[in-house]
Amino acid sequence: MKKIKWLKRFRNLGFWNSNFKFIIWALLFLGGAGLACADMRGDLEILAAAYAGAFEIVPGLGIRFPDGTVVPYDDGKQKDFETLLEDPDLEDMLRLPYPLGDMVNPPAPNEDPGRFRPDIFFKALYGSSEKDIRAALRPVQWMPSLNGPRLLISARFGIDKKLESVIAALEVLGPEYRSYLLPPGGTFNYRPVAGTSRLSPHSFGIAVDIAVGPSHYWLWEKNGAGEYKNTIPRAIVEIFEKHGFIWGGKWYHFDTMHFEYRPELILKAQGAGNSSEAGLINAATFSLIEKPDAGRGSQGFISDFKN
Ligand SMILES: [Zn+2]
Repeated sequence: MKKIKWLKRFRNLGFWNSNFKFIIWALLFLGGAGLACADMRGDLEILAAAYAGAFEIVPGLGIRFPDGTVVPYDDGKQKDFETLLEDPDLEDMLRLPYPLGDMVNPPAPNEDPGRFRPDIFFKALYGSSEKDIRAALRPVQWMPSLNGPRLLISARFGIDKKLESVIAALEVLGPEYRSYLLPPGGTFNYRPVAGTSRLSPHSFGIAVDIAVGPSHYWLWEKNGAGEYKNTIPRAIVEIFEKHGFIWGGKWYHFDTMHFEYRPELILKAQGAGNSSEAGLINAATFSLIEKPDAGRGSQGFISDFKN
């Protein structure tokens, strides 16, 4: 009799055990799905803050532009590094954290935060043809106190004004910085990334190459990306980052003359989109005001655009 009771108890324990396992797995699964949802929600909030007024969030799916273009957050595809470059979605674009501020170590292999750029997203933001993109460009004088050239930059989202703020801060740096800044490599140039069919961020008028001479580019180095090199001073990088530009010197496939307006990566690095209070405050204080139109001027700028 006693033995049977014990057996029952054991069976009961077994029953609960298997259910308990199931519950644990279910919780883990739902937790994982929940985290994925939180990632999507956070990332979409970051994009909406970075490019205010450009599109609306479609919860659980992605974003929709006023012309009806829908850009899904996650295309559900598994991708290797080359496919991430060729065919990224919004999730891929924000996948790698951009190391804001001081960089302690050279980037790890294939750590290229900012190089996964969904073409459809950038065309919807800045124009789907050269003509449309050019219509939003505005000339900004580079280092005016040193008679620098006028560079074409997109006036969308006030990027032209942000570049003017960058330039004002660069001008305050001492004369020892001049060789890194003059002559500039250039800004707008409608063409693909070297050796690919993808449009370069220079095509959208959102990228700035500072002086080519003291810069390093992974393809120019004997050992490729494996041999990280940089001489660009930290002060220059910090000024650009403060105004929403990321630096190609923080990529494994480094391009140390290259800066690119990518406020979503800066916002994410500041902790926005965590739905924490700090994150929300950061997103709000990093105000990115849309300033459409104002475009005119059409002089191109000649440089060897790689990214
Ligand atoms: Zn560049």
